[in-house]
Amino acid sequence: MNKKKLMILAIILGSLLLLCGLVLVLKKDIKLELNGKANISINVNDKYKDEKVSACYGNMFKCKKISYTTFGNVDTTKIGTYKIRYRATYNKKSKSVTRTVKVVDKNKPKLTINTKEFSICPNGKLKNYDYKAEDNLDGEITDKVNVKVEYDKIVFTIQDKAKNLTKKTFDYKKEDSEAPKITLNGKDNIYLLVGDAYNEEGVTVTDDCDDLADKVKTTGTVDTSKPGTYTITYEVSDEAGNNAKVTRTVTVYNKNVDVTPSEKTIYLTFDDGPGPYTARLLDILKKYNVKATFFVTNQYPAYESMITREAQEGHSVAIHTYTHNYSYVYSSVENYFADLNNMQEKIKRLTGKETRLVRFPGGSSNTISRKYSSGIMSTLANELEARGYKYFDWNVVSGDAGDTTSTSQIIANVTSNLRSSYTNVLQHDVKGYSVDAVEAIIQYGLTHGYHFAPLDVTSPGAHQRINN
Ligand SMILES: [Zn+2]
Repeated sequence: MNKKKLMILAIILGSLLLLCGLVLVLKKDIKLELNGKANISINVNDKYKDEKVSACYGNMFKCKKISYTTFGNVDTTKIGTYKIRYRATYNKKSKSVTRTVKVVDKNKPKLTINTKEFSICPNGKLKNYDYKAEDNLDGEITDKVNVKVEYDKIVFTIQDKAKNLTKKTFDYKKEDSEAPKITLNGKDNIYLLVGDAYNEEGVTVTDDCDDLADKVKTTGTVDTSKPGTYTITYEVSDEAGNNAKVTRTVTVYNKNVDVTPSEKTIYLTFDDGPGPYTARLLDILKKYNVKATFFVTNQYPAYESMITREAQEGHSVAIHTYTHNYSYVYSSVENYFADLNNMQEKIKRLTGKETRLVRFPGGSSNTISRKYSSGIMSTLANELEARGYKYFDWNVVSGDAGDTTSTSQIIANVTSNLRSSYTNVLQHDVKGYSVDAVEAIIQYGLTHGYHFAPLDVTSPGAHQRINN
């Protein structure tokens, strides 16, 4: 009986299991499965193609395709972990699955080495090598390159933020064949008036292997109490015996001395002022005891007190015109002299005396005046002489009247054209860049045997040919 009961129980249990299985197999539900892998890793900037999911509703015998919704997206330009979730809803049931996509940087940095032959200093110091490192994400990272010597190789390594590593190794020699670089601090040519202090500015030394800042040998001295040309030599050698040298010239000279103009006389003349730069110019002239000539106008009356100063400091004050207006002064002899008299009165008021010295706007050879009155320059030249005036042109142009605005060019134009007899230089003290050239012109003149003088009625006229 026991055996029979057991069999019945087994049959009942077996039937229940079968029934349950049948229910399970036939029961309808949402089936949602990822196509492709659940975890994906892609390189930054690579294309990401979503493989989607398979979604259906039914049982193992029959399953009907249903729609689903996708949430989230992948930015392949940015490193990070992205989740894509898919959800299917059907018959009040809902199911979702998730895929993880990692965007990672697998690109190694690019390391470009331009140096062809490698050497290190005898003392083990590395030299300056020419290389560049760039990374797809970090940009230029040349400053992150690590250079070191490992046994018989020189090793360059660069790692980007994602730890991708690029490494290059090279053979090297141990040598120092490059000379130190030595450069002067301050000017290579210094001009000093007798009695001025000489300030030693030294040199700057660089070397690819050694620190030579304290190894410079300086020879030569400057005696600022004696006119002359002094040379200071700076010399340095590195540990390997490579040598470098540089020199500085210091010229000590006397102030301009007042002598009777004869040979090698420079007449500095300044037209169109006074103006905003005249005071600065007068300071420079005073420093070197150089007297000049100012052909003045009334164009900038705010600076008229400079005319007084010019006269007080021993310069020649001369007439250029009152208005500097070509169409007015060159339209008739009457206009010219009316204008001239205005300037003469002003000069007399400011300096206490009249002047006999004149310069025409544009010079006596100007052709612009033809536009206003034919033959007027010849008439004016004669008439000035008849009235006791002396007119001046020039024989060296500084170039400041329009063709150059460069101070160094003005200095070159003047110093390279000085005459052995006399030089009448045309400049304009209403131009700052021209005033800036005066000190160097004076220094050049004084150290090359010239002297400077103001114009007076006995000075040469430097006349050009009258063309109208
Ligand atoms: Zn002028």
